[in-house]
Amino acid sequence: MERWIKKAKEIGFYEAVRLDIATLKPMKEVREMCNADKCRAYGKNWTCPPYCGSIEECGEKMSKYQNGILVQTVGKMQKAIEYKTIVATEKKHLEMFHRLCEEVRRAYPDALCLGAGGCRICAKCAYPEPCRFPEKACSSMEGYGLFVTQVCKDNQVPYYHGEKTIAYTSCILFA
Ligand code: SF4
Repeated sequence: MERWIKKAKEIGFYEAVRLDIATLKPMKEVREMCNADKCRAYGKNWTCPPYCGSIEECGEKMSKYQNGILVQTVGKMQKAIEYKTIVATEKKHLEMFHRLCEEVRRAYPDALCLGAGGCRICAKCAYPEPCRFPEKACSSMEGYGLFVTQVCKDNQVPYYHGEKTIAYTSCILFA
């Protein structure tokens, strides 16, 4: 575990902590937000609901892992909402997350990588054609029904880092 926390910090994550698998509690209310399709990915991306599995299936899948790491990227804005920092922080988080996923999957090919937002490896998901990169594709924590604020709190990681900040959170389960 220490190895992956160290690796995540080396990659550049602001926070990297051991994730207690018991704190992963899929909630139907979170899944309902996906069903409302506000991000327009519902039914259009292989890693998003309904294709990532029912809430029960997601819970069962996560419960099979013994270890996890929770990682976070925090951006500091010049004003309350600064679009360019939000976009840049998300981009940085995604890049670092994919790098860490690649490293963990090299050691644990069955690792489950849950990002901040659905899979965006391709500019447009291949759905309904087969996934182009099944070995790289990642669902989101929300897609698996996780309430990210609660997962952060239960693992002693702040979800909110104060005024003029933006945070992106992801996790990787392995072994
Ligand atoms: S890798 Fe591409 S095709 Fe596969 S789920 Fe992700 S975006 Fe869709």
